[in-house]
Amino acid sequence: ETFKASSQRYDKMQYRRCGKSGIKLPLLSLGLWHNFGDNYDFENARNILRTAFDNGITHFDLANNYGPPYGSAEKNFGKIFQEDFKRYRDELIISTKAGWDMWPGPYGNFGSRKYLIASLDQSLERMGLDYVDIFYHHRPDPETPLEETMGALDQIVRQGKALYVGISQYNAEDTAKAAKILKDLGTPFLIHQPRYNMMDRWVENGLLDTLEDHGLGSIVFSPLEQGILTNKYLHGIPKGSRAATEGSYLNKSQITDDLVKQLRDLNEIAESRNQSLAQMAVAWLLKDIRVTSVLVGVSKVSQLEDNIEAIKNINFGQEELRKIDSILNL
Ligand code: NDP
Repeated sequence: ETFKASSQRYDKMQYRRCGKSGIKLPLLSLGLWHNFGDNYDFENARNILRTAFDNGITHFDLANNYGPPYGSAEKNFGKIFQEDFKRYRDELIISTKAGWDMWPGPYGNFGSRKYLIASLDQSLERMGLDYVDIFYHHRPDPETPLEETMGALDQIVRQGKALYVGISQYNAEDTAKAAKILKDLGTPFLIHQPRYNMMDRWVENGLLDTLEDHGLGSIVFSPLEQGILTNKYLHGIPKGSRAATEGSYLNKSQITDDLVKQLRDLNEIAESRNQSLAQMAVAWLLKDIRVTSVLVGVSKVSQLEDNIEAIKNINFGQEELRKIDSILNL
């Protein structure tokens, strides 16, 4: 049946300005790294996207190699986009990236002008889009001159294939260098996409300050530490979970007894806040307004509905924060 988005879709969600730009992003955005490739259920993927948009999640984040196989998340997203979201195109911020392994040979990886420009052309074709809203360099490339990679981002905008550009996982120093190059070129540099969650706090060591100094926003990935910071692993490893899945980036052996003990203690704090652990983990990130948006992944509609509720309480007392740190030995 034809998808008609909820007329209440903008009532619940809140939006934050992305650095000093004209763009606002929803407090939660949806990532398509997992659960949208050819090995996943298509109808489930479609329901996740519909639920997201119905709840005011206006931002969907992709990359060239999301799948598996590589490219299939963009292809499946494109199919759903054509059927369900085409008429809402101007209500959506769609992003994609290049920087990791994508095709064989020397031109399908890292940060050359050759790779980035060709990859975005392929992505647009898979998704059936004329342009993306944000195009990212997906990871720093130590061997390609930053001027070349940033020059490619600049050209992509001038070609009309992206409205804004971003970078992912660059450290504070390289981010400042990139910002300078892009400023000189006049490129609309919008956002940085770093990994950040309660258990992985590297961004607090300079990156968030640098982003603020340069008027850039941030969208943080793996906010739930790939599902660890939820109630999922409190009582063993459920079937179908990421940790139970061969070849995923989350390994069974990472779910140790010590970790589960920490998660149970964290869950008690979450309960005292009337939140699920996932909700508290999302809220914990949003307490810092330099975090423009929290980029969650979900394998089920119910997980998304759980996570969205986080925005109802994003305030923490000093004592709560101290307890969380001490549970995590930080
Ligand atoms: P999360 O930390 O949000 O982990 C998502 C997983 O957590 C889900 O697949 C699900 O796992 C589980 N989960 C989510 N919500 C709940 C809930 N309420 N209750 C129980 N379990 C839950 O993020 P990801 O690691 O998936 O990253 C999110 C997005 O960030 C990606 O889709 C991608 O867009 C982006 N990203 C970017 C990277 C980069 O280099 N720039 C790298 C990695 C991600 P399960 O499948 O077990 O149910």
